Amino acid sequence: MHRRTFLTTATLGSLSFAVPISFSHQIMTVNGPIHAHKMGVTLPHEHITTDYIGAELVQQPQYDREGAVAGILPYLLELKALGGTTLFEGTPQYVGRDVRLLKALSERSGLHIVTNTGYHAADDYKYLPKHFYQETAQQLAERWIKEWKDGIDGTGIRPGFIKIGVHKAPLSENERKLIETAAITHLETGLTIAIHTGDGAGAYEELECLMSHGVAAEAMVWVHAQNDKDDDHYLTDLARMGVWISLDGVNAKPRQLKRYLYQLQSMRAEGLLDKVLISHDDGWAVKAVEAEGRKSIELSLFDNGNRVPYHTIFSKLIPDLLSSGFTRRDIKQIMVKNPRHAYMIRVRKK
Ligand SMILES: [Zn+2]
Repeated sequence: MHRRTFLTTATLGSLSFAVPISFSHQIMTVNGPIHAHKMGVTLPHEHITTDYIGAELVQQPQYDREGAVAGILPYLLELKALGGTTLFEGTPQYVGRDVRLLKALSERSGLHIVTNTGYHAADDYKYLPKHFYQETAQQLAERWIKEWKDGIDGTGIRPGFIKIGVHKAPLSENERKLIETAAITHLETGLTIAIHTGDGAGAYEELECLMSHGVAAEAMVWVHAQNDKDDDHYLTDLARMGVWISLDGVNAKPRQLKRYLYQLQSMRAEGLLDKVLISHDDGWAVKAVEAEGRKSIELSLFDNGNRVPYHTIFSKLIPDLLSSGFTRRDIKQIMVKNPRHAYMIRVRKK
């Protein structure tokens, strides 16, 4: 029995009644639920737009949304032409999450796009809102669960995963509170928890913290696992325990490509290819520019080694993998099966 139903309230005129909805084994996209088998080739950690101004200052969106759609759409259509079908957008609330833009881009491109609920505690807590410090983990989780039940900011768009960010070990009290908030939200919603993490020791602490709240290792994705040092063995140790290993900064710099190839080869040699996710971490950032005395807002592409977003895995990494002994089946495992199993909604028996 994997199914559980939870009650959501629908309103019809002045009538309020409960409608049972089960999303088990589905993926929640910005356009509603789809069966996990429809995800296809997936990029599990990308961004569309981000805004790094900080939680208490961010006013969204600073850009003209129609202009943003026109500028970004060609790259999503190109991703589709390369065979991509689903993109997970990992920009949390207060870092510029713009679900209306995601929905418009999903509708026009035909790509499945998945957004998230959660906060980012890295970078000196610049992206944490004031209420984070005033509320308990339970109260914070209620805000995230409300997004899941009612949709985000009155749009009806629901998150398809939990995304939080922490720095390195040892994790601070605030970071632990954020992880506890994610645990409570996961247990209520079945959404997978993706954690932007500074190092392997941090990822290990996250897992311990999640497990102490009754969350299974399989519900955790270690985001930016590529930054771990090779001799620390956290990639293989945590993968063996069930954690998803997200190697998500694939870029076109030759040395970097070699490193991703090496990490994938190591995971394959250890029989752990079924725990690996790959993605680019591409996207655009809001940037204020001043020209001829006039201030304006631009979206500038991340300076991460990829001149064309959402492209390098298809144009460079997959050919490298195939010429290094990986099979088409391995690629399908990494790009189709693993994201499906990592992110399909799993509601517990109660
Ligand atoms: Zn990212």
